[in-house]
Amino acid sequence: MERTEVAGNLADVRSRIEKACARAGRDPAGVKLVGVTKTVSAQSIREGIEAGLEIIGENYIQEAKSKREPLAGFPVAWHCIGHVQTNKVKIAIECFDWIETVDRQSLAVELNRRAGDAGRKIPVLIQVNIGGEATKSGMGEEEIVSFLRLCRDFDHLEVRGLMAIPPFFDQPERVRPYFRRMGELLKTLKAEAPQPEKMRELSMGMSGDFEAAIEEGATIVRVGTAIFGRR
Ligand SMILES: *Cc1c(COP(=O)(O)O)cnc(C)c1O
Repeated sequence: MERTEVAGNLADVRSRIEKACARAGRDPAGVKLVGVTKTVSAQSIREGIEAGLEIIGENYIQEAKSKREPLAGFPVAWHCIGHVQTNKVKIAIECFDWIETVDRQSLAVELNRRAGDAGRKIPVLIQVNIGGEATKSGMGEEEIVSFLRLCRDFDHLEVRGLMAIPPFFDQPERVRPYFRRMGELLKTLKAEAPQPEKMRELSMGMSGDFEAAIEEGATIVRVGTAIFGRR
């Protein structure tokens, strides 16, 4: 059988993940790969899934909604990795299994309410604005402790860890300090989580820097371009 370009790219990314894990003394089973599919066709996503991709990451709710139908029945989890408007929470819950981008208290309140209506318990990550950038969403480090305490009242959310989009640099070594800081944050915040044993995911690292992210403790890497090509 001829291997598709997506399948070949995916194999390369997997082998780079394994090498980064080996350098860091980590088990590759501890790193989940999210295939980021904004602007990617359902056909290409299908190739990714058939080549073993288990998690799809979409930024826009409408786009995810339109792709879920042609891909219904494929055994993949859908992660929301983009900004969620409060008035879109109901459909966000219909389209996604995980929400990686809980960036404010009001969103968590609404997610908890709608998840309750749907009879679900939704895994979520707290998005951290690790670079303190005015243009990026995410909570500041100082906000997160009080937010986590509040989360104890949310019966329909499961706080699984932290997610970040650090400042952009084209050299991974310049992003590494932000990845490292995320690892430290997770360690110090764990005890404040509603279920500390479940608070263990660090979603960070993209096509240009996922290896450095893994060396600094990423458990979820979000890779688009390196799998599906340039957008
Ligand atoms: C687009 C995107 C990615 C993937 O970026 P690539 O550089 O294409 O791998 C990861 N995370 C988020 C939040 C994104 O928007």
